[in-house]
Amino acid sequence: MKRIIIAIDGFSSCGKSTMAKALARNIGYLYFDSGAMYRAVALYCMQNGLINGSSIDTETLRSRMGEIHITFEADPETKNSLTFLNGVNVEHEIRSLEVSQVVSQVAALDFVRSEMIEQQRAMGEKKGIVMDGRDIGTTVFPNAEMKVFVTASAEVRAQRRYDELTARGDNANFQEILDNVLLRDHIDQTREVSPLKQADDALLLDNSNLTREQQMEWLIEQFNNITR
Ligand code: C5P
Repeated sequence: MKRIIIAIDGFSSCGKSTMAKALARNIGYLYFDSGAMYRAVALYCMQNGLINGSSIDTETLRSRMGEIHITFEADPETKNSLTFLNGVNVEHEIRSLEVSQVVSQVAALDFVRSEMIEQQRAMGEKKGIVMDGRDIGTTVFPNAEMKVFVTASAEVRAQRRYDELTARGDNANFQEILDNVLLRDHIDQTREVSPLKQADDALLLDNSNLTREQQMEWLIEQFNNITR
């Protein structure tokens, strides 16, 4: 069976990562979370005083890009992918609301994107990967054999994020999360460099009313059609 690249793009908190991870596990592919890379850069900025309110010290960040090393390792127990920033496991920290509130601004910087895109392309060299993000099917891998664009209503997405944060013990406020989801949608869709948009050849998946099982069934069917 031929090995392909699967690009999964879409709005924030659509369950893309969960879906992409499960798909990769089912078909024996490697999974890469491109959003985690932008989150790690945002965390680096926070840890190094490069963000003050809504302003980013872009010149210092640009000069330090070479010092930011992001890697992924499998959790020995759960086998889930963990994100490391300069050798430190930051998987938990990068999912906080504080990081969510600044990440889209960091991800809108052209020099941050070009560096991340280069690293993402290297991850796909041998194919057999599932990568999720915002521009995977449009910019990172425009020739990906399977592209999926995922969407769901903003309220459904905010509720999922709320459940995720409360499940891990964080204090969460639904309205604050909904505002963050809508703001990130806006920044992601209107930025100049590779804005979030559906690739012409992407399959559209609205999962507002789908169970995880129905969604997986649909994904596997598409995968089989393309690789058979
Ligand atoms: O997917 P996730 O919500 O973790 O991504 C965090 C943020 O990183 C997004 O809101 C978006 O601003 C940015 N991002 C991006 N391009 C990608 C993946 C994520 O701009 N390929």
